Order: sequence, then structure tokens, then C-alpha cells
Amino acid sequence: MLLKCIRLKKIYARCIFILIIIVCLVIITSQFLPKDNQNNSYKHSKVSNNLSQIFEKKLRDYESRIIPNLGDNGEAAFLDGKDARDGEKALKKFALNTVLSDRMPLNRKLRDPRNKKCKDFAYDPKLKASVIVIFYNELLSVVLRTVWSVILQTPGKLLEEIILVDDASTEESLKGLLDYYLETRLKEHRIKIVRIKHRLGLIRARLQGARIAQGDVLIFLDAHCEATVGWAEPLLSRIEEDRTAVLVPIIDVIEATNMAYSTNGDTTFQVGGFSWSGHFTWIDIQEEKDKNKLTPVKSPTMAGGLFAIERNFFWDIGSYDEQMDGWGGENLEMSFRIWQCGGRLETVPCSRVGHVFRDFHPYSFPDNKDTHGINTARLAHVWMDDYKRFFFMHQPGLENNPIVGDLTHRKQLRQKLRCKPFKWYLDNVYPEKFIPDENVFAWGQARTEFEMCLDDLQLGDDKVGPLGLYQCHPFLAMSQYFSISQKGELRKENTCAEVFNGYDVQLTACHGHQREQYWILFKNGSIYNPAVRKCLSSEGVDNGKGVKVEDCKDSVYQRWTFTNINNTV
Ligand code: UDP
Ligand code: MN
Repeated sequence: MLLKCIRLKKIYARCIFILIIIVCLVIITSQFLPKDNQNNSYKHSKVSNNLSQIFEKKLRDYESRIIPNLGDNGEAAFLDGKDARDGEKALKKFALNTVLSDRMPLNRKLRDPRNKKCKDFAYDPKLKASVIVIFYNELLSVVLRTVWSVILQTPGKLLEEIILVDDASTEESLKGLLDYYLETRLKEHRIKIVRIKHRLGLIRARLQGARIAQGDVLIFLDAHCEATVGWAEPLLSRIEEDRTAVLVPIIDVIEATNMAYSTNGDTTFQVGGFSWSGHFTWIDIQEEKDKNKLTPVKSPTMAGGLFAIERNFFWDIGSYDEQMDGWGGENLEMSFRIWQCGGRLETVPCSRVGHVFRDFHPYSFPDNKDTHGINTARLAHVWMDDYKRFFFMHQPGLENNPIVGDLTHRKQLRQKLRCKPFKWYLDNVYPEKFIPDENVFAWGQARTEFEMCLDDLQLGDDKVGPLGLYQCHPFLAMSQYFSISQKGELRKENTCAEVFNGYDVQLTACHGHQREQYWILFKNGSIYNPAVRKCLSSEGVDNGKGVKVEDCKDSVYQRWTFTNINNTV
């Protein structure tokens, strides 16, 4: 009995021992298996033998159709006959001539687009970059050309790795065939692929890439870019000098029609601004001293698709707002945050990368949500303080809408980092940004006694068109929001009322030189233009038509009442 008991105990102990060993083995081996905890697998998977043959054949077919030297030096490229016609069709469908891209060498040579003097700078950075390229249903040849350009134009010692993030593309060629291409054609290069199982949108896709990056600096690129010679050195050198500098190259245009690499000359470029409707805009370099400069130039915002940031700084300063879905808004969020929380944004003139600007998004968004609007509402609530009022005038439906989601974490981040107010940003980083109700003589609706108001007739902020007259809305809508600025402009955000031919009044880009854009608002309500010595009049103007200037007289048609008058300016 006792013996039996002892034997049982022994068996027990042995079982427990074996169990412990098994558990240990499972734990140890799991450390070495690819991590799949975020629904993603890292490093491209090995392609099976059968598939290999199929892929190899596909690639050979594809490679045999490539036309040598097509598009070399970034020249515009053209195809003939059916190919040309198919290219036209593709352009309408994908906003890109995919037929042409497929025939152009993946490693085409580009000319050096930089200013000649850039070569005189002796950059010798010690930092290494992880280049992160995210994609959703992009054309394989365009993605590969992006990868090739990075490999060809980045000295090996500066390139830690390339990380491709597939945001759950459904396009077959971006799966096994891409893996196979990397395995067979780019084997000796450090390229990782993150495969996201369920589409995350570009913000969270970039985050997934950043999480596995090991380089000192993260450089994000869209999947339809081409880097040019010397692009990486000035970015890395500047970050070595100041880790809080977040950098954008000059973004040149790769034409979607013919793949031409086109520049605006080698000295002219613009930096980033924003509109109160929450969109990114290009603006002229802000300070005279910075024009024609080849060292980094201050930029209030960035376009978002292409930028370099020191890896730890990226995390320290709050990476991205993870609750932002889909596409859009993240670039302004990051721009404001960087400036307000102690970093700086700069454009680096000696670093140039081409980007295909597409006329429309060739992909749709889940649930057709206006992710740009929702994301911008998030950033407006977190970063713009009271100035968010202008954004919500454009998007009133989003102001108190639960669709915008919880903001607690981002507000906590702002507190934790002790970030400066948005007013500081406007005063110091973007002082020329027009604020419709600050430092102005009058603002709001400008109405006549007949309840007619000045109206931009939905012109849009960068077009030229008549300064219109329309029934006053019962609330202050953006289309009827006008200001008389300190400079005497009768204006909207970017457009100013200007007299043409001594008669006609058009909204046109504000040029700041007064003359026909100079108006005086008199106490009696007349709006006088000294250049033509006439007054703004609504006489005989139909609803929805343009106002004009006439000889000044005491007339109800020449009296305008602004919602707000500021006598203290
Ligand atoms: N993208 C993504 N997931 C999405 C939408 C876009 O990964 O849900 C990728 C897209 O393939 C591209 C990058 O994000 O590489 C930026 O998108 P896009 O180029 O369309 O934006 P744009 O340059 O027009 O602002
Ligand atoms: Mn893009």
C-alpha cells in the first residue's frame, strides 16, 4: 500500500515535471515565433515551391514588358496605340497611368533636381533611418519603384531598414507576388513587411510601422514616391543637430499622366499652411530672409505623407492620435502639436522627393465616413482652443457630435507635455494667418436694409469670382462672413474684394498692396474705395449676382451694417 502510494507520487511528480518542461518550451519557442498579437505578421513569409514557379513566371513576363530607359531622367513618358488608350482609361479609374508605370523600369534613373550648391554641403550624419512606406491597394510597380528609389538613393550606412506596411490591401499582387519579388530581387536588403489583417487607415498603419522600426530616425513615405540623390543626408544631419526638428523634403510632382518628375525650378518652393476649414495649404516662404536659402526653412504645417522625425522624439511628443480613422487631419494635428509642445517643423531644400499627386482617391473608406472632417474636429478640440470656432463654422454638424469620439487621452497628453496655447502658435509660427475677427474694424454679415448680405456665392477660397449679394441667412454662415481688416481689406480668409475696370467687384487673392483692394468703412455704413473713388452698392443687383461700385451718394443701397464693429482697432 505504502509502496503503491510512493510509486503514484513518483508518477505524479514526473508528470508535473514533464508538464513544467512543456510549458517552458512553449514560452521559449513563442519568443522566437513571429509576433501575431496585433493581427499582423512581420517579415515577409516564405513562398512555397509551387507558388514560386507561378510568381517567377509572372515576374519574368512582367519584366520582359518593361521598356528600357522609359522615363529616364524623370522625362515624361508615352506609350503608343492600345497601350496609350488603356493608359487613358486607367487614369480615369486609378488617378494614375498604371499601364505606363508597369512599363517603366522600377529603378529608373532620375536627374539630380537639387540646387547645384547643395552638393557643396558636406553632410556626414551618424544616424540611420527606418523608411516606413504604408500602402492600401497601390499599384505594385509604383510601390516597388518607391522601394527601389530608397535603396538606390540612400547610402547603405544611413539606411537601417525599409518597412512596408500593407493596410489590408485586397489587391492580390500586393500579397505573395510582392513577397516573392522581395525574396528574389531584393534579398540582400533589409526590408520588412507588416501585414495588417483588418484595414486600420493610414494613421494607425504608420503607427504599426513605427512600432517595429529600429533606426534612429523614422522617415515616412507614401507608396508612390521616388527619392532623389542626396535626399537622406540633409534630413539626418539636421535631426542630429536638433532632435526636436521634424523635417519635410521638398515634395516634387510625379505627373500621374506621364510619370514626369517635375519641379518648380531648383530654388522656388513653398511651405505648409492651413485653412480654417481644416485643410492643408501651400503658402509662400514666410520670411524674406528665408527665400533662396538652402538650409532648413521654418514651416507652420506639413502635408503629412513624407517626413522625417527622430524615433524617440516621435513617441515622446505623442506619435499620432490613434483614434483617428481613415485618412486626413493627422498632418495638421501633428504640425500643431509639434510646434505647441516644443518641437519645430522645417522644410529641407536640399532634400527632394517626388510624389504622385492624384486627382482623387482611388480607394473608398469603410462606411463612407468623412474621416478628414471627424479627425479635424478631434484636433480642433484638442489643439486649437477658442480658434476652433472657425473650423466649426465650416463644419457645424461636427461640433458636439459623439462621432468625434473620446478626447481624454489627447487632452491629457497636451497637459503632460505642457504645450503652449494655439494663440502662441498663431503669433509666433504663423503670424500672417488671417484671423477673421481679430484686429479687424468690422466682421460678420454685411447687410443692407433689405436683408440682403454680401456673399461669396460659394466661390471657394482660392478662386476668383464676383463679390455677390444674397438673402441674409438667419445665422452667420461662412459664405457671408466678411471682415474689414486693419489694412483696409474687405476680405475673407484668403480672398479680398477688388475693383476691376472701375466698376466690377471681384473676390481675388489678397495681395496686401492695397490700391483697388483698399476700402474704408464710414460711420454711415458706406464702404468706400479710394482708388476709384466709388462706394459699394447693391442697387439693381439681383439675389445671387455680383455687387458693384458706383459714385457715392446718400442711398439705402450704399449702406451696409456689419454684425460686429470694433472701434478700438
Ligand atoms: N493608405 C493606407 N490606408 C488607407 C488609405 C491610404 O495605408 O486606408 C496609404 C496610401 O496607400 C498612401 C498613403 O496612405 O501610401 C497616403 O494616402 P494617399 O496617397 O491616398 O493620400 P494623399 O497623398 O492623396 O494625401
Ligand atoms: Mn500620396
